Amino acid sequence: MFTKPNRFVDRVFLHCSASDHASHDNIATIHRWHTDPKPRGNGWSDTGYHYFIRKDGTLENGRPLERTPSAQGGHNTGTIAICLHGLDKPKFTTAQFDQVRGLCLEINNAYHGTVTFHGHKEVAAKACPVFDYRDVLKLDRFGRLGLSGAEAQGLANETHRDADTMPQLRRGDRGEAVALAQSLLMLKDDGIFGPKTDGVVRDFQTAHGLERDGVIGKDTWKALFANERIEHSGAS
Ligand SMILES: [Zn+2]
Repeated sequence: MFTKPNRFVDRVFLHCSASDHASHDNIATIHRWHTDPKPRGNGWSDTGYHYFIRKDGTLENGRPLERTPSAQGGHNTGTIAICLHGLDKPKFTTAQFDQVRGLCLEINNAYHGTVTFHGHKEVAAKACPVFDYRDVLKLDRFGRLGLSGAEAQGLANETHRDADTMPQLRRGDRGEAVALAQSLLMLKDDGIFGPKTDGVVRDFQTAHGLERDGVIGKDTWKALFANERIEHSGAS
């Protein structure tokens, strides 16, 4: 059973392991690749992904969900990362696809349909994942799961429920919420509210008829979330 972590999450990313070797078909191997010292491994503190799905459909746990993943460079904040073992498109199994679809449905339900689902390749010049994740997850054009067109449109028009619970942010602030705001503003999400972020926030406020004060309060959060939905609905 999937349980929501305490950190903010609004996107789920799918990956493939880029190997078809049976000896690599386990989270322990991925853990070694990610944590072994360089140059053998990535030298990270933990596995980059939260979940790993074997060829036989077995689901294995990687990095704790409470921690931000290391999986989509520059786009890790606010995400959950899932990796399916495999490299050759025809060698992925129905058992894996059933498992990932089931897991994503649980995640989607836990978030009441407010999360969107994506492939790593959407934010990187990579082929990952090589399988047709949009078809496997039955995604609509918003990257949403299991929703009819009308339901998706309704969600797109809804004001984001989390705007009320987001902290007020200004220049000098640091942390996860800053990184989220930066990712919504298409900035590098380093979590540091510096002069560049301040300038982009002020321009965003002017463009959206808000007070140009550089403070991300409730109204600016709402506009940021609404803006994200418009961008999603504009993508095909
Ligand atoms: Zn990937």
